[in-house]
Amino acid sequence: MAISADAASEKDLYMEADACYTRLLNSPEKQKMRHNWQICIQKFQKVHQMNPSGPWAAAGLYMTGFLYEEMYGISQAPADRKEAIDTYQRIVNRFLKSSYHKKARIAIERLNSKSVPKSGHLDTKPEPLPQTVLQPTKETPVDPVSDPVMNGDSGSNGLSNITDLRVWSNPNYTRIVIDADKETVFQHHLLKQDPALDKPQRLYIDIEQAKLGKHIQNFITVNDNLIQDARAGQYTLDSVRVVADIKSFKAYKIFSLKNPFKIIMDVWGSDPDQREKPAPSFKADKKTSKIKPGDLARQLSLRVGRVILDPGHGGKDKGASGIIPGVYEKDITLAIARRLQKKIQATLDCEVILTRNSDVYLSLEERTAIANTKNGDLFISIHTNAAHNATAYGIETYFLNLATDEDAILVAARENATSTKNISDLQSILSDLMQNAKINESSRLAATVQNAVVSHLNGRFNSIKNKGVKKAPFYVLLGAQMPSILLETAFISNERECQRLISPEYQDHLADSILIGVEKYIRDTNPAAFVERQRGTSNKL
Ligand SMILES: [Zn+2]
Repeated sequence: MAISADAASEKDLYMEADACYTRLLNSPEKQKMRHNWQICIQKFQKVHQMNPSGPWAAAGLYMTGFLYEEMYGISQAPADRKEAIDTYQRIVNRFLKSSYHKKARIAIERLNSKSVPKSGHLDTKPEPLPQTVLQPTKETPVDPVSDPVMNGDSGSNGLSNITDLRVWSNPNYTRIVIDADKETVFQHHLLKQDPALDKPQRLYIDIEQAKLGKHIQNFITVNDNLIQDARAGQYTLDSVRVVADIKSFKAYKIFSLKNPFKIIMDVWGSDPDQREKPAPSFKADKKTSKIKPGDLARQLSLRVGRVILDPGHGGKDKGASGIIPGVYEKDITLAIARRLQKKIQATLDCEVILTRNSDVYLSLEERTAIANTKNGDLFISIHTNAAHNATAYGIETYFLNLATDEDAILVAARENATSTKNISDLQSILSDLMQNAKINESSRLAATVQNAVVSHLNGRFNSIKNKGVKKAPFYVLLGAQMPSILLETAFISNERECQRLISPEYQDHLADSILIGVEKYIRDTNPAAFVERQRGTSNKL
């Protein structure tokens, strides 16, 4: 059909423009040249021009405005600022129903209320993909007396065994994971509230060709603001139903992961910005400047009070093996994370939470669940790279997105402990999964950390290779609600880098360099964050 062909090519154009912007983010040198910005701007403009009423139009136009704004941050040229405001204004005037309408209004306020800092990086960036409503467009009418029967033994062979039901929750976010020993087909439905039968709204998943494991905990009381309880039962002889009784929600997302097969249900509350957070308290900076009253809301919403560090692998999952016998990724990542935790706490006065602080196994979806339920403001997953070719070396930082190069797919397959085929399957549903993700903030965090790590290590060690910022669908980043990155610190499969990774000296400098990146990211996001502390003002809500 013509419409879908157009949408596909608009998407392609958008992805191409986005790749252009990612390359620019990767290169502080390129950022200094005006024409490099203009090339990317033209690409985003084309997305809008190709179909001004299509699903990608507002996204393309927003990014056009955003790149003008970023360029203005560097050029300080009033004409760039005007272009940015004019472009945002077109969104405000024409895309009344798009989620970019509000973003554009905020952007205009931002530009009107303050002078842009020299570093150029600012405030909330857009989700790169067209926004669609997260809830299903219609409620599926199904048999209302469809709660599961609680008996769990079909005894049949060949069925997928449902082995576990796990829940993580805070008042505004719930993740339910259904584990199975074999991949199978499932469908989900949202059932309306039924006051006559005293039934709340229910979200349920029917898993076909499945039987309920005998030892599964089949009823879990959640009782947060979103979900009353979750329960699993053998629905028919060869199907299992998992039901969540809903109190309220804004959006939910259901997806599956492979090896081992599991179904994940994420439910978000209506007010993610009103999350309970620690009060911001940054250590004083030497610079001083005045805070404009209009910046207050921005400071409050963009403060970084809690950083989640995720040491990759652990326990039975050793991660990649070093070229030096007995060296494993899981030990290195924990050592680096512990050093980084101390440094961030000492320097930035943020709370730092480790997803694991010992040699224990944690599933990838559990790590994200921890980051979300702990209300982290930044999420950094720490890894070491590996390749068959022992000469491969260097440092790279990832954020969640479609992978655009083969190497990135290989890295994602290894870190996800799955096949490249599964990564390709995941790519096809990724845009749907990314709607709540802070993709642009994540790409900026990735670029800032990557650049800081490379430039800090460069003067101190020889042969530091900058492999740049890359994107790939990492399981551990799926569903994370805060800017999130995965850092491949060095190649454990390379003799020189493996030696470095086990040395306290390199680990320490690496932690220093990540700290520098995190600090710069916070400062760029919210220039007043550090000043505020010095003036002794508190923004406690
Ligand atoms: Zn890893």
